Amino acid sequence: MKFLSTRGWLRQANFSDILIEGLAPDGGLTVPEQLPQLSIPTIESWRGLSYPQLAAKVIGIFWDDISEADLTELAKNAYGEQFAAAETVPIKPFTVNFGLVGLSEGPTLAFKDMAMQFLGEAIPYVLKQRGGKLNIIGATSGDTGSAAEYAFKNKPRTSVVMLSPKGRMSAFQRAQMYTLDVKNIHNVVIDGAFDDCQNLVKELNGDLEYKQKYSLGVVNSINFVRLAAQCVYYFWAWLRITDKMSAAQKERAKISFTVPSGNFGNLFSGMLAKGLGLPVYRLVIATNENDVLHELFTTGVYKPRKSADTFITSSPSMDISKASNIERFIYELLGRDPAKLVAAFAELDRRGELDLRAHLPKFVGEYQLASGVSRHANRITTIRQIFNDYKVIIDPHTADGVKVAQEVQESGEIMYVMETAKPQKFETTVYEALGFAAKLSFEMLEMMQAEQHTVEMDSDSKELRKFVARNAV
Ligand SMILES: *Cc1c(COP(=O)(O)O)cnc(C)c1O
Repeated sequence: MKFLSTRGWLRQANFSDILIEGLAPDGGLTVPEQLPQLSIPTIESWRGLSYPQLAAKVIGIFWDDISEADLTELAKNAYGEQFAAAETVPIKPFTVNFGLVGLSEGPTLAFKDMAMQFLGEAIPYVLKQRGGKLNIIGATSGDTGSAAEYAFKNKPRTSVVMLSPKGRMSAFQRAQMYTLDVKNIHNVVIDGAFDDCQNLVKELNGDLEYKQKYSLGVVNSINFVRLAAQCVYYFWAWLRITDKMSAAQKERAKISFTVPSGNFGNLFSGMLAKGLGLPVYRLVIATNENDVLHELFTTGVYKPRKSADTFITSSPSMDISKASNIERFIYELLGRDPAKLVAAFAELDRRGELDLRAHLPKFVGEYQLASGVSRHANRITTIRQIFNDYKVIIDPHTADGVKVAQEVQESGEIMYVMETAKPQKFETTVYEALGFAAKLSFEMLEMMQAEQHTVEMDSDSKELRKFVARNAV
């Protein structure tokens, strides 16, 4: 498969080329030139596969410049024993037509592991082939940073320098990252907010000479490889939900997924799966108080907000008002025409909003998308309701998904919500809802007590540059 940029850059790249690149050289996002159409018999032929085997098949659609044996080996290592569930992604029904897709069984208890564990195998593999190295520098407000650190710890040819804002993450998230005592992982705590961290990362990456000298790279949410890896669990979930259905039942089944969304990566991965031919009925986007995408989906007007106008909520991983993957969706809407996309983003820059109302019928008609909003009070009520009804504790982000899913579910529709994190990560909100927190395992308790290893720094790029230079592989 070849990849292009949404903004028209035409050097056709291979999967191995885009593995490490964030943006395409013209500032656009990489997208597949064309998606093949899988037949139902092909999808059915994957029913007997384990999760790693299925991952090799699905990712193999995108990654064709690797041998099948090597890709299978990478997938086996990415989705192995570090996942708490033997089946990697357990399907957890509450009722016959409602349940959760267990995406948070990985080492950092959030769905970011589903993509990052794969990157942690794939990147060193390609670096070894090409004789390169990569110093990953990132900013995190929680889940991405820990997922990257657990994916790359002790991996050859790589290091991670992760910036996090002082005192802004939950105690559990801090412990998860900061107790890592591994040579190639560096936690830099910045005396500032998340935006300061992000600006520092942008500054270093924007200095091309410095970037090249120290082989800097990013693994942020616009990386297409993350989307390809996330595509897998839509296939897996569909196969498991239909395991006991007859052929006729399967044909009639309306299987939908609701996705708690921030940067629109998870949901876009679902669109990719659907685009490949997976018979998903609807994809439903759940936002929190930061509801820019709900506004887009209901009015056809895209009006991103500044970070100063972004609410700090109790589902913090969804506190995003400018979803980085939305450009890929708008590219689709505009008929995959780079010239139209460039014009649209110029309009967005000029007016601060983008009028896509003419395309609104396609949101439902062609892409079968729906959306809804969940606020703090909904989150609390939903965590309580799910615990009372099913004795299951869900995290605040998953609760946003469950709230919206219940609201939009049609009769006869089978609705599954993507479980994006475990409740242990977000103790305060769970406590507010239930009066007690989710139980920590023995290993988690040990982790909470363990010594933490961080480097504290002012929001000062000079000091950071020196630190990166000293610790680069
Ligand atoms: C990252 C994250 C999200 C948002 O996912 P996107 O792919 O950015 O839309 C939702 N919930 C949790 C817990 C997350 O870590």
